[in-house]
Amino acid sequence: MPELKEMSLQEADAMHVMPTYARQPLQVVRGEGVFVFDEKGKKYLDLTSGIAVCALGHCHPALVAAATEQIHTLWHMSNIYLTAPQAQLAEKLTQASGFDRVFFSNSGAEANEAAIKLARRYSKHKYGAHKGEIITFSHSFHGRTLATVTATAQPKYQEGIGPLPGGFRYVESMTMESVKEAITPKTCAIMIEPIQGEGGVRPVPGDFLQALRNLCNEYGLLLIFDEVQTGAGRTGEWLAWQTIGVKPDIVTMAKALAGGLPMGATMAMEDVAINFSPGTHGSTFGGNPISARTAVAVLDTVMAPGFLENVRQTGLFLQRELMTLSSSVEEISDVRGVGLMWGVELARPFAGKVMDACRERGLLVLTAGPDTVRLLPPLIITEEKLVWAVQVLGEAIAEVFEKVEEQ
Ligand SMILES: *Cc1c(COP(=O)(O)O)cnc(C)c1O
Repeated sequence: MPELKEMSLQEADAMHVMPTYARQPLQVVRGEGVFVFDEKGKKYLDLTSGIAVCALGHCHPALVAAATEQIHTLWHMSNIYLTAPQAQLAEKLTQASGFDRVFFSNSGAEANEAAIKLARRYSKHKYGAHKGEIITFSHSFHGRTLATVTATAQPKYQEGIGPLPGGFRYVESMTMESVKEAITPKTCAIMIEPIQGEGGVRPVPGDFLQALRNLCNEYGLLLIFDEVQTGAGRTGEWLAWQTIGVKPDIVTMAKALAGGLPMGATMAMEDVAINFSPGTHGSTFGGNPISARTAVAVLDTVMAPGFLENVRQTGLFLQRELMTLSSSVEEISDVRGVGLMWGVELARPFAGKVMDACRERGLLVLTAGPDTVRLLPPLIITEEKLVWAVQVLGEAIAEVFEKVEEQ
């Protein structure tokens, strides 16, 4: 056998991992609470939470204990058998979410795939085989599988991978007229993120969501909320629909549900859920005992008295800090968000540059499109840490815009 070449991790990554990510020049080796550390031990305040995944911070003791105990008990069994963590999670999760039944998968895209299949099965069964079209919106993001990337009404995600599956219609502007225009006799559902995440942190107005609810009732359509990013406490309630007060027929979750382990969930009330019968859908890993046991710990932590109230208070604090910053920094053109999910829109498309300048100062933030800096802090963040973060963000924005002026 030829000898393995000695390669640095950077070389191995650059040569042998498919280049789907524009990798940041940072190797993360360890996480603790709201901080992560690089290989030299440098500390970063993490306002990304692994893109809204590590919502309780890194290595939260309750989650580590739950996962560790389950690792020593049972890693995996087929879904043809009952396992305790999955049944316990199903009961707690449906109760917290306001639904009767759940289908477990491993990711956001899979949770949305299940929602699409379920909506179609329900509608075909109830109204006839012609039903199947789903309406989605500009700036949406629903995942990377072929069906969910087609549901994602953003051409940049669909380049070079056609033919795409049919059955989706896009609405450009969030007006009732445009939605009504898109409805055909084949329409079976409307799918929307209550706060568009990847598409720029855009909260959808509550009265528009209520109007969609009424329209769905009137036309016999199912309303699907993609809460993959907004779920598990991010908006100050367990789910964003509870913050807004408009209940969908199907809701999907993933990202933060198991605090960093892979897990997706698709929930519905009984009359919709029974359209999945044995053999109509499935997943080898879905509802895995380690993920399920850890998700129970996430739920117990987030639903403990006072936790969500604290998220709401901390969210309002962050909002005030960002508003104060934007009133003194003219390069900030908009500040949008709910709870602990915020977007800071810049007057020019420099979000990536600002992200770099923040990282150099020990602060990790995300972008959402070319002009929006996105903040998704762990839900356990303190006001003191946010004060520092907003100050650093202000400095980073000033530096980036100054450099551009000089050029
Ligand atoms: C991240 C995300 C997805 C996709 O989730 P994956 O786990 O990457 O498949 C879908 N919808 C929304 C709203 C998301 O934020």
